[in-house]
Amino acid sequence: MGKHWVGIPTNSRLISNFTLPTLNSNTMYIDPHIHVVSRTTDDYEAMQKAGIVAVIEPAFWLGQPRTEVGSFKDYFSTLVGWERFRASQFGIVHYCTMGLNSKEANNEALAEQVMELLPLYVGKEGVVAIGEIGYDDQTEAEDKFYRLQLELAKEVDLPVLIHTPHRDKRKGTIRSMDVSEEHGLDPKMVIVDHNNEETVKEVLDRGYYAGFTIYPHTKMGSERMVEIVRQYGPERIIVNSAADWGISDPLAVPKTADLMRKSGIPEEHIKLVTYQNALTAFGQSGQMDEQDWLNAAPLDQTKKMSGNSVLRGGQTPRVEGSSDFVEN
Ligand SMILES: [Zn+2]
Repeated sequence: MGKHWVGIPTNSRLISNFTLPTLNSNTMYIDPHIHVVSRTTDDYEAMQKAGIVAVIEPAFWLGQPRTEVGSFKDYFSTLVGWERFRASQFGIVHYCTMGLNSKEANNEALAEQVMELLPLYVGKEGVVAIGEIGYDDQTEAEDKFYRLQLELAKEVDLPVLIHTPHRDKRKGTIRSMDVSEEHGLDPKMVIVDHNNEETVKEVLDRGYYAGFTIYPHTKMGSERMVEIVRQYGPERIIVNSAADWGISDPLAVPKTADLMRKSGIPEEHIKLVTYQNALTAFGQSGQMDEQDWLNAAPLDQTKKMSGNSVLRGGQTPRVEGSSDFVEN
């Protein structure tokens, strides 16, 4: 595996005139769960410098509960439209997952309308899974819309990204897998996310991909992640940041990789859990390919989408290969 590990090609946009004191930028990472609509352009720049070549943004709750189906429509359009463009302006390939989150499934009248909207979005370019779906409070409504979306995933042959609840995690995780199997989904098409030491063994034993979210200061920290990879090995384990509008770290994936490196975890294992396993799992959608970033068009911030740019008055655009490249 290790000998096939591709270093950053010399013509890559990741090579530029910066130095990284702590993070190893000579390695490619994927953050397969990050809500970048909530993050700043500084975050995008730092992520690219740290080696993140691609991100997956799961459709989720925005903090403020939505009251109209039109809010979902515009949010879904942002995920396949503007945010995908915005990421590209910082040299990062953006994918997303489409779904009705478990929290808002509890507004049943609205949830019914979102279910009618979803089929219009699941086939769009860059949609790599149905998600994040599953249980929050494990209510009847959550169960109903989880099941409906498992059926949708089967119908369109997309992987599923499962959000497991923060309360009653073990019970909710097992229930998520039981229901998924009841609907006939192949565990290899399902990524069960937000695992911890209590859930990892059963998730892996049952053949699922196991996602781990590295939350700074609490819950799953990088140190615990190192121990999990040491104990269970790298197969089907996927590390992510789930960075959003809350206290979270968009560099959690490269930072965890760095800690693994310092802790003596073999480089091939680090590559699997911070890059390859996510690509293998979500690549089953047919929408995500390594060539998307290896052969990406050169970074060009003079580009616009529907007349809109990431630049503000007087700013110098970054253009790959250009002599007036400005590093802030
Ligand atoms: Zn999330």
